[in-house]
Amino acid sequence: MRYPCSPFRAFGKEIKIKQRNMKKTTGCMAIAMMLLASCDSKEAAKEFEYSNEKFADLQMLRYEVKGWEGLSLDQKKLVYYLSEAALCGRDIFYDQNGKYNLRIRSILEEIYTNEAFDHETDEMKALEVYLKRVWFSNGIHHHYGELKFLPGFSEEWFRAAVMAEPDHFPASYEGQTVEEFLDEICPVMFDPTVMPKKVNQADGEDLILTSAGNYYGEGVTQAEAEAFYNAMKDTLDPEPVMYGMNSRLVKEDGKLVEKVWKTDGLYGEAIRKIVFWLEKAAQVAENETQKTVINKLIQFYNDGDLKSFDDYCIAWVKDLDSRVDFVNGFTESYGDPLGMKASWESIVNFKDLEATKRTEIVSSNAQWFEDHSPVDNRFKKEKCKGISAKVITAAILAGDLYPATAIGINLPNSNWVRAAHGSKSVTIGNLTEAYAKAAHGNGFNEEFVYSDVERELLDKYDSMTDDLHTDLHECLGHASGKLLPGVDPDALKAYGSTIEEARADLFGLYYVGDKKIVDLGLLPNKEAFKAQYYTYMMNGLMTQLVRIEPGNDIEEAHMRNRSLIAHWAYEHGKAENIVEMAKVNGKTFVKVNDYKKLRNLFGELLAEIQRIKSEGDFEAARNLVETYGVKVDGELHKEILARYKALDLAPYKGFINPVYTPVYNEAGEITDVKVDYSESFAAQNLRYSNDYSTLPLVN
Ligand code: ZN
Repeated sequence: MRYPCSPFRAFGKEIKIKQRNMKKTTGCMAIAMMLLASCDSKEAAKEFEYSNEKFADLQMLRYEVKGWEGLSLDQKKLVYYLSEAALCGRDIFYDQNGKYNLRIRSILEEIYTNEAFDHETDEMKALEVYLKRVWFSNGIHHHYGELKFLPGFSEEWFRAAVMAEPDHFPASYEGQTVEEFLDEICPVMFDPTVMPKKVNQADGEDLILTSAGNYYGEGVTQAEAEAFYNAMKDTLDPEPVMYGMNSRLVKEDGKLVEKVWKTDGLYGEAIRKIVFWLEKAAQVAENETQKTVINKLIQFYNDGDLKSFDDYCIAWVKDLDSRVDFVNGFTESYGDPLGMKASWESIVNFKDLEATKRTEIVSSNAQWFEDHSPVDNRFKKEKCKGISAKVITAAILAGDLYPATAIGINLPNSNWVRAAHGSKSVTIGNLTEAYAKAAHGNGFNEEFVYSDVERELLDKYDSMTDDLHTDLHECLGHASGKLLPGVDPDALKAYGSTIEEARADLFGLYYVGDKKIVDLGLLPNKEAFKAQYYTYMMNGLMTQLVRIEPGNDIEEAHMRNRSLIAHWAYEHGKAENIVEMAKVNGKTFVKVNDYKKLRNLFGELLAEIQRIKSEGDFEAARNLVETYGVKVDGELHKEILARYKALDLAPYKGFINPVYTPVYNEAGEITDVKVDYSESFAAQNLRYSNDYSTLPLVN
């Protein structure tokens, strides 16, 4: 499962990725609660260009692989081999997303790279945008909205472009003539009623027949697929495999059969190349544990047996000491309307030692924080253990993680493996940093922050205090406190998750402003916390409303929690004017007049929320959430939406990968691996199509 990035802060939309993945995310998602402003030093921003081009509703970013030079040669080689293994799976994900995707990508690239065409015409520019959207979505459906997007050029123009130079188009489209090929492909591209949706979840429809994904063969119905897998499942098995995860279910001679994705099965051409690079990676593994992990993955790719997959997952969760780590394979099932078949993805990464130290300091002081919290002693834990989450640096993204990606990952997905062997939870530090840096200077702070005083505060401290708040929320907040004996953990029902997120957020807010944090070296001074308080209040009172449609209430639990905390503190500080809604030239701004007293209010609310949780006080929970967390001030909402719209920010973001180039000596051995960031999104994808087209166009 992935952290869905839903709890955006001031700059929310840039981190709104993969939100539909909420269904599987169990714990806390504040991991995604990152700050999206500020930049530690303007010098750094100059050195590395985080923001790149914008097209359609998308913006491309770059991420920096910080710490690369600190890796050993073998670690660099390992990352390089694993990144090659990652890129070799690219075509699999295109084909999983829809059976025409590889053909459409290929023909578009043929036109786009044909120098005989005038590239300055409106049609050609529209083709470029459409092709970039196809690259971004790994197919013809929107990566987030699931709906098919249509080309900005006409079918007539497209047909004429192809027929102008038919020799440029490979004759290998399944033995078709170019005309026959166009007749097949044009409705898929241009007719909005053909394959309109990638994943259809509408209740009451046949979810398989109405979804464009390629996980089920022609004519397979939802009822048939469900019956097929129900018959296969052994409900008494305490260690059930992830049935159906690695295959396409097709009808052959009227009978259902699984076409398994493995080296000698479906997608074998790509998988054999992946295995080739994994074998090289195994030779430079950091230790025996990691070598075992890689070999077990190879075994699974070779035999396609889901028991081998579980074996691999169990080995993978035990590999905790290696610096380099990776995901490579059929992983998440969000693309299958039945939630079984897994899309192919890969991420290669290494541990961020500095940032992980920070989470370890927080965790190892868990008891001190528990003992000193403003909560009634009856609700405190006598023995409190923090949770340590690893912070990683992404080195390559591929498949379902490229270019739109997650910022946190928790795997494996198998419930019994998680229960019996545990799971690994990571946050991807260099990606959250890239989002934050890219948001700097996009005009958001200039529009919504009250004055230069606050903006300066945010420039200096927002990034570090927001990371710290996330750590406190994750490592301590959720792990703190206890229920009184006999209290039903589900007593708060529908309000439970909002209250739980509020509890963790408040724990973090209260302690970000504590002297202990400075003593532990987690913040540089007693001023820094104000940045976190300011953005939290601004977001909860105002700016998170940009994600709500006009006229709607707040529904999502994290957003409700932030609204609850901010509005409660605002109302309870009104008499002393602790937080103010100031009007300047008709625009509304949040102004914090007393940060110390605001901290006391957070402490007060934390005590009350913990009481509600510990006692299972449903009425009080409902009252708090309904009073402060749900309703939207219509006038203010309209104002915020208009101001946000004027900034013209792209709602979705994705990443361009770095390029790794090995340096060889005369004996042909790798002596170093260089990393470069200068490639454009288009150049990168054309290169990938050239070097990593591992599958035939029809599979
Ligand atoms: Zn949480």
